[in-house]
Formats: sequence, C-alpha cells, structure tokens
Amino acid sequence: FAAAVMVVGLGACSSSRGGTNGASEKLDKGATIGISMPTKSEERWNKDGNNLKAKLEKAGYKVILSFADDKPAQQNADIENMVNNNAKIVVVASKDGTAVGPAVEKAHEAGAKVIAYDRLIMNTKAVDYYATFQLEQVGVLEAKYIINKLKLDQGAKGPFNIELFTGSPDDNNAKYFFKGAWELLQPYFKSGALVSPSKHGGGITAANTVDNTWQKISVQSWKTAQAQTDMESILDSTYAHGKKLDAVLSPYDGITQGVINAIQTKRPDMKPGTDSWPVMTGQDAMEIAIANIAKDLQGETVFKDVNKLGDAVYDMVLEIAEGKKVSGINGKFNNGQIDVASKLLDPVSITKDNLTDLVKANYITQARFDQLT
Ligand code: BGC
Repeated sequence: FAAAVMVVGLGACSSSRGGTNGASEKLDKGATIGISMPTKSEERWNKDGNNLKAKLEKAGYKVILSFADDKPAQQNADIENMVNNNAKIVVVASKDGTAVGPAVEKAHEAGAKVIAYDRLIMNTKAVDYYATFQLEQVGVLEAKYIINKLKLDQGAKGPFNIELFTGSPDDNNAKYFFKGAWELLQPYFKSGALVSPSKHGGGITAANTVDNTWQKISVQSWKTAQAQTDMESILDSTYAHGKKLDAVLSPYDGITQGVINAIQTKRPDMKPGTDSWPVMTGQDAMEIAIANIAKDLQGETVFKDVNKLGDAVYDMVLEIAEGKKVSGINGKFNNGQIDVASKLLDPVSITKDNLTDLVKANYITQARFDQLT
C-alpha cells in the first residue's frame, strides 16, 4: 500500500506533462534515445532491443540500450542513467509496470518523452504513448485453438480436463491475455464441457472471474522453472494415476516448455503426436516453440512480429523527434491514472500448418528454421 500511495503522489506532481498526444518541440539531429528492456534472459527482448537500436542508429540517433536483468531497481537505475546522459525520449518495456513509475516520472520531469513498449507502465501520468499488440486477442487466439482442437465448437461434450496458467503478476499484459482466453473458455466451464480438476489457483470453476483468478495461477517473471514446478505438483496431485490431461492454456512459450518438462518427467506414458498428449498453446514464436511445434510437443504459439512493433515505435520516435503529431494511434489503455494513446498491432496464430509463415515474415531465416525443425 505504501508503495502504491508513493507512486500516485509522484504521479500527481508531473501531471501537467502527462499523456500528451499533440505535436511537441523538435529534437536536435543526433539526439539521444534510451531503450530500456526488462531482461536478456528471454529471447524476444534481445531482438526487440537490438532491432529498434539498429533502426534508430541508422537514422542518425544516439542510442543507449540497457537490459535490467528482470530487476525493477536495475531498470529504474538504467532509466535514470539515460536521463542523466540527456536522453530525450525513453522507450521502456517494463519488468514491473508499477515499480518503474518513479523512474519515468523523473524522465518526464527532465523533459523527456516516455513510450511504453509492449507492456504498459502503470499508475502514473508520466507515459506519453504505448505501442503493443492487441492484448486480449492473444488470449482469444489461444482459447480458439483449444476450443477447435477439442471440437468444443462442434458440440463435443467432454468433460475435458484443462489446466490454466497466466503470466507474471507484475506485468499488466498477463491479465489481458487471460481475459481474452477466459471469456471464450468460461461458457464451456458453465456447460461442464471443460473442467479444471486440480486445485491449482484455489480451484478454477465457471464462477471464477478474471480478477479473482489471474494472479493466483500466475508464473512469476514468466519463468520456465516455476511453470515446471507448478505443473509437476498438478500432475502429482491430480494426474498421477493415469487421469487424462486434455489441454493446457499457456500464455508464453517459456511456460509451455516448463509444462512439457513436467509432463516428460512425471507422465512418460503421454506421447506427443497422439491423443494422450494435451493440446497446448504459447506465445512469442520462440525458437524452442518452433522446434516443439515441429515435434508435436506444442500445438500453437501466438506470433507477435517484433519487427513490426519496432517499426511502429521507430515511427513514433521519429515523429516526436521531428515535432510532429504521432500518427497511427488506434486505441487507448487506462493505466490507473490516465488513458494512454496506443498503437495496437495484430498478433497471429501459428500452428504446424502455417509454421513456415515465420520464414515468410522474415522473422527467422530459412536456414535456422530448417535446423530447428
Ligand atoms: C509480452 C509477451 C512475452 C511475455 C514474457 C509479455 O509482456 O507481451 O510477448 O511472452 O511478456 O516475456
């Protein structure tokens, strides 16, 4: 509580600069742009950070790129360092959307513009723009895949056993991913076609709401190891005696990998590519997921083309730097204090059938794809 009050208090101080959507002062050629990424330990943020850095450097900007090792204090120090080095725009993919508030408020106080990258920065007025993918749509694509594979949409009655996971509790995205999925899955819980027999998260039934569920079934920092431990206890408590596990809703390929590890450890009788293997989702089209999909260990991943997100943020930075109005705003997200003008891109569902689309999108080279598959 104390922390929340502090953040709100600081937010109020910088209110006059918050949430601008109009034209602003022009930046000098060669101005410094800061890019603060949450961690190097997940594949995508390396691509995201380096990709945007390269584009901006090509356009003549100086770039300070940092990775916060999944530590909120480190990220705040990184952002302060950018501001001290005269960064005029800071692009932040937050480790902890709330904890990063004070750092972006200092950036705002120093006159820098703040762009929330992929993950919204919460409970502060010091965010000018947000660029991400349609968040709920990620969960919609995952749920649709499960519904289709279990033939629920063709009237299959089950009951099918499904276990649910959500992302990191300090990441605002995680709630929206689950919301998109839960809205589609809940009717099947109501009809009894889907059940979640473990007591994971206190026991999921049709009566659960997004708000009272998502953090209870979350995986701190999206870690594979925690997902594995959680799935192992689910398998021990509920599926040890041969009970069939029909599906796992996973919001991230790294979590899916943890679930796969747990199944292979605890239930070697379950075989990929057969009916004994659960329908499983994911997100990010990580290399490991590309390999897992090719081997039928994972059914689906939600692909978010980070090149396109990079382009969208690059355009934003250039327009801000040139003192123009930011174009392409197609939504807004409330962060608890303000509605943040947002650019929302479309995520895409990838299965074995369209796996090669990742090569066509220039997301991965044919040679690397061939190695993985
Ligand atoms: C991102 C996802 C990613 C997850 C774990 C989320 O905030 O939107 O793309 O899978 O973090 O890094």
